[in-house]
Amino acid sequence: MGTAESYQRVRATRHRARYPPLSMPDPSHAQRPAATAPGHASPAPRPILTAELLAVGTELTVGETTDTNSGTLARSLVAHGVTVGRVSNLPDDRAVVVEAIRLALTRADLVLTTGGLGPTPDDLTRESVAEVCGESVTVDQEILAWLQGLWARRRLPFPGTNVKQAWVIPSATVLPNGNGTAPGWWVDRPDGRVIVTLPGPPRELGPMWEGEVLPRLAARGVGVDSEVRTLRLTGIGESQVAELLGEALLRAPNPSVATYARHEAVDVRVSARAEAGQSAAALADEAEAAVLAVLGDHVWARGDTSWAGALGDVLAERGWTLATTERDTRGALVSLLRTLDRLPFAEVVNDPEGPASDQVAEAERVRAQAGTDVGLAIRGTPARGEMRVDIGIATPGGTHRDRKLALLRGSQGADRAAIAATSVLLAHLRATKP
Ligand code: ATP
Repeated sequence: MGTAESYQRVRATRHRARYPPLSMPDPSHAQRPAATAPGHASPAPRPILTAELLAVGTELTVGETTDTNSGTLARSLVAHGVTVGRVSNLPDDRAVVVEAIRLALTRADLVLTTGGLGPTPDDLTRESVAEVCGESVTVDQEILAWLQGLWARRRLPFPGTNVKQAWVIPSATVLPNGNGTAPGWWVDRPDGRVIVTLPGPPRELGPMWEGEVLPRLAARGVGVDSEVRTLRLTGIGESQVAELLGEALLRAPNPSVATYARHEAVDVRVSARAEAGQSAAALADEAEAAVLAVLGDHVWARGDTSWAGALGDVLAERGWTLATTERDTRGALVSLLRTLDRLPFAEVVNDPEGPASDQVAEAERVRAQAGTDVGLAIRGTPARGEMRVDIGIATPGGTHRDRKLALLRGSQGADRAAIAATSVLLAHLRATKP
């Protein structure tokens, strides 16, 4: 979107298309700038560099609903170079919400609320924003007519409680909700900060974020040049990773380097923002090189690549398929590789008392039996509270055997054994020329 003006034209068209013939408030009305609101100075142009997220709803603070909205919004904001300073869950308590919005406005350029836009008395986000802004709510007749039309079309009486979903304050621009009855608000503060309110249901919030809020943020100027890279590591624990990286790297604010112990990997996340004439990419390159210098041998993938994804890529490069057989690992291998489409055959055997077997011979057997290019055989054996995993690999180029120790036992040990075996296979295939 080149300019704010062209964006307004696009939105006007969208409105009409989305609410025919009950088009939600006339776009010229919805676009009413805050500057025209009595008592409001024209907002200073202020790019959106920082944000705070407030997810409102007692269901969140009592643990009945998990706050996924904040994650969705935070990921998107960070991808646009906005620093998210805080994410909070708040109960349906007006005093708490008002205080939280006020405080957030002292720190962030953008305060984003989700939830609390419903028709019931415990939906208090509109009242809270109005109080923070020192403005009174009025009923917007066009939104009211639109809401009444929704009920009339279903031949139902319009409930009086829903009138509050037509409330506006002078400094709010209405954000249409194409999937529900709760419109949101874009509120310009006199100092150029912005409050945005969005409804709670993710299927309503998502399209409004993409279609209504992001284009407005873009028109305002959002974020800074930033770069995020994730290196996925295996065969090393998080504390050892942290020790090797050292405090200087882990405490630096920009580029920042952080570690995350995940189920499939230890992730090292490098995040950089353009600074002092250096691009974000250049700063990220430097930090990434420092990470690779000490941990490069453990990196098996980047971004959010899964084990199945990484293995799938290597097999696809060679045009190969894989068959697996696993014994006494509770199906952990096939579970790890379930999305791998180059795995036409996977055998799971549970026979802890059975005779010893040679895993290379097993890999060759399963490969011949399934008619694939590669065979992988593993067997898990409990060993002093841990799980030993014997690994056999057969490829058109030859065979390979290995043995790894997975820390932990039971299903967690089995999961780690499957990861260890997949890691050995991946490294072996990568070392083989396509
Ligand atoms: P509506 O009027 O459409 O219900 P609302 O803004 O009042 O919108 P809430 O009543 O707060 O939304 O929440 C409605 C539903 O949306 C919740 O029951 C829950 O399923 C979901 N929801 C609310 N907040 C969140 C959140 N932060 N993360 C994920 N889901 C949420």
